[in-house]
Amino acid sequence: MWETEPGYLNRNDQVTIEPIGNRGYAIATDAYLMYCLRCRAMHRTPHGSLTDRQCPECGTGQQSYPLSEEERGIDPVAALSRALRETYRLRDDLVAEGDRLRTENEQLRLG
Ligand SMILES: [Zn+2]
Repeated sequence: MWETEPGYLNRNDQVTIEPIGNRGYAIATDAYLMYCLRCRAMHRTPHGSLTDRQCPECGTGQQSYPLSEEERGIDPVAALSRALRETYRLRDDLVAEGDRLRTENEQLRLG
């Protein structure tokens, strides 16, 4: 599982929720909303740091760019389940497309 995938759990009990844009970071860096299973704090973490991220509230993680008012209002459980549904819907679409192409290929082969 990639560290950017919704539901990814790192060794410090921090869960990846979803991407939340790059406000506060270099233009090419996506930030992700993470959720701490130990103290339920939400925080933002730049792409590439999710695997080793510690909680800035109850751990020794650095406080990153603070969440906006709107981001603080996000319900992490609802956001995670929405992000997971989207991920699985995309996978289902890819599997369906693969099946369609295989069938098409077979029909071409059989003439
Ligand atoms: Zn915490």
